[in-house]
Amino acid sequence: MHILVTAGPTREHLDPIRFISNRSSGKMGYAIAQRAVARNHRVTLVSGPVALAAPEAVELLPVVSARDMLAAVERCLPACDALIMCAAVADWRPREMAPGKLKKNTMQPVIELVPNPDILSTIAPLKGQRTFIGFAAETDDLIANATDKLIRKGLDMIVANDVSAADAGFGVDTNRVSLLTPSAAPRHLPLMGKEEVADAILDWLEKTVAANARR
Ligand code: C5P
Repeated sequence: MHILVTAGPTREHLDPIRFISNRSSGKMGYAIAQRAVARNHRVTLVSGPVALAAPEAVELLPVVSARDMLAAVERCLPACDALIMCAAVADWRPREMAPGKLKKNTMQPVIELVPNPDILSTIAPLKGQRTFIGFAAETDDLIANATDKLIRKGLDMIVANDVSAADAGFGVDTNRVSLLTPSAAPRHLPLMGKEEVADAILDWLEKTVAANARR
């Protein structure tokens, strides 16, 4: 399979040195890319800025902003069989990016924000027979919020991730997730290394693609 994976945060610049972003380390997306390559899949990894080395044999496309990430996903998707949208895309960006460093004594103390495009919703018309997997990082009402995103974003599976726990979610090497699909009961996985979570996601993807091919 050729799998498109997105990972890491996006950065939304105010000026060349300042930006709005989030705490995503990219570890979960890079673990998926690593395990997918080890399972003999071809992987294109669209990554926001992270402090990780890309796994060998992965085609790495570094991006900065949500709009860069959308453009890279739109470009790569036609050649791919599946998309795993693991990136923590910033919801908002400053309305304008100043071409030079903003000066303390002249800049306004208010930043005007505009919404970023939702990548999954924008590319939904290109889905065709492809399998789309998303992530939902939540601090409250995990299963209800993730189920809403599963349906609203037209996904085949969503990986629901409680990011309020210290041992799961952003920045750490372990994760505790639930796998939600439109037709089956939620599968709650125990605390696992991010590689093990990646394998659970890829097990599901391989089984689903094989079952669809038999139909
Ligand atoms: O709505 P929320 O950001 O929680 O949705 C999470 C899922 O949607 C993730 O798979 C994320 O990569 C994706 N997403 C997106 N475009 C955005 C924001 C999130 O595709 N602008």
